[in-house]
Amino acid sequence: MKIVIIGNGISGATAARWLRKLGDHEITMISAESDYFYSRTALMYIYMGHMRLKETQPYENWFWEKNRINLLRAWVSGVDFDNKKIKLRQAVKTGASHPAPPPELEYDKLIIATGSATNKFGWPGQDLNGAAGLYTLQDLQTMNDYSKGLKRAVIVGGGLIGIEMAEMFHSRNIPVTFLVREKSYWNNVLPKEESEMINRCILNNHIDLRLGTELKEIVDDGNGQASAVITNTGERINCGFVGLTAGVHPNINFLRESELEIGRGIKVNEYLETNIPDVYAIGDCAEQMNPIPGRRGVEAIWYTGRMMGENVAYNIYNKKIKYNPGIWFNSAKFFDIEYQVYGNVQAHPPENHESLYWEHSDGDKSIRIIFDKKNKEVLGFNLMGIRYRHEVCEKWLAEKTNIETVLQELGLANFDPEFFDEYDFELIKLYNQKTGSNLQLKKKRGLDSVISFLKR
Ligand SMILES: Cc1cc2nc3c(=O)[nH]c(=O)nc-3n(C[C@H](O)[C@H](O)[C@H](O)COP(=O)(O)OP(=O)(O)OC[C@H]3O[C@@H](n4cnc5c(N)ncnc54)[C@H](O)[C@@H]3O)c2cc1C
Repeated sequence: MKIVIIGNGISGATAARWLRKLGDHEITMISAESDYFYSRTALMYIYMGHMRLKETQPYENWFWEKNRINLLRAWVSGVDFDNKKIKLRQAVKTGASHPAPPPELEYDKLIIATGSATNKFGWPGQDLNGAAGLYTLQDLQTMNDYSKGLKRAVIVGGGLIGIEMAEMFHSRNIPVTFLVREKSYWNNVLPKEESEMINRCILNNHIDLRLGTELKEIVDDGNGQASAVITNTGERINCGFVGLTAGVHPNINFLRESELEIGRGIKVNEYLETNIPDVYAIGDCAEQMNPIPGRRGVEAIWYTGRMMGENVAYNIYNKKIKYNPGIWFNSAKFFDIEYQVYGNVQAHPPENHESLYWEHSDGDKSIRIIFDKKNKEVLGFNLMGIRYRHEVCEKWLAEKTNIETVLQELGLANFDPEFFDEYDFELIKLYNQKTGSNLQLKKKRGLDSVISFLKR
């Protein structure tokens, strides 16, 4: 059996590894972007000089050959689903070292794992030189090329990639103007206080943050080069680079005209099967037809791509397992502030959500615990500048633990009880004040307590 995977990101690479672990069929993994799987989440660290590309590759180059996973550097221009053939073209910018791929490749089973692409909303000038997103290695190269002698970058779109881009330019002392359409940074995801904390953090890092400001047009210098932006207030901001970071969408345009069922992404059932037999979709490009309650159809995040990669391998070998992403988790870094979220934390919470929020007087650390107003079940954790143990939070959420139990046992979630104990005390004090309770922090901490809690 010939199994072909389009895409060598986290989802495609994980699928390839599991397919090899579970069976002995022929596996080919195609990528237009890179010879080897690398960690996309580490792109910023390459730019900032903390890592080289090689150090972002989780597997040594020999790993793929040793595991008989064929790697093919090529661009897939379409798929003939009736005849089970993939149409190939030479990938752009691959360099002379890459021989032209065969025009077609046959498959018995096909996994589509083509990830996301940068959103462009039809802004005038969006395709000028010097206007680019941050998604691929080629984007990184573009950013790097433009950084030399750059007087100002304007970044459009206040999400996770936008703030990374701001930090990247800032690390090279390049002035940045950051246009954020919303009234506060990422306030469609972050609750008000956390969003305001990040506004302050952006400003403290000398980024020219423009809230409530949208891009209207990118100005051509007459030679096809971005030279300024015009905002919705009519202001002109001169710049040599425009970062387009207003979100991403599933990278599936090359399949739009096919019989594949497509919504926002490629529609898949809980077995990651598409409407076409023997064709699967995983990772950012897949859209769950029936997402589990509280989850989105398309989730463009790392760990769900990895889970789907493993899942699809089992499904292809008929050891069918339903895809279940479990409890929502995400993490990021906003300059120096680490962010973690577990479970259901909403910017605009529904009626039944009660929130216990504590913020450090420094204004750069906070803990928010969400619980159900009526039954006091804990529903979510939102942490800024403080880290909690993933497995502990996950267990509390999975077991619908009572907020009062969680508060008294917070020591179990702490990585650094010596340092964080004081924060837990303040959080409990806050809860006691709000509710008239008299809860006390239990002295449960240290690895032994954590291990026995997790086994419980
Ligand atoms: C800058 C940045 C920072 C991020 N940080 C985080 C983070 O902190 N945490 C987190 O959870 N997520 C983060 N993400 C998101 C995360 O990286 C993605 O969710 C994940 O990489 C998606 O994996 P994937 O395997 O679905 O697709 P991708 O990683 O996008 O891989 C898709 C592959 O398919 C190939 N491909 C696409 N179309 C074709 C074609 N037609 N022909 C041939 N090859 C093709 C591409 O070349 C690419 O190599 C970040 C993303 C970016 C861009």
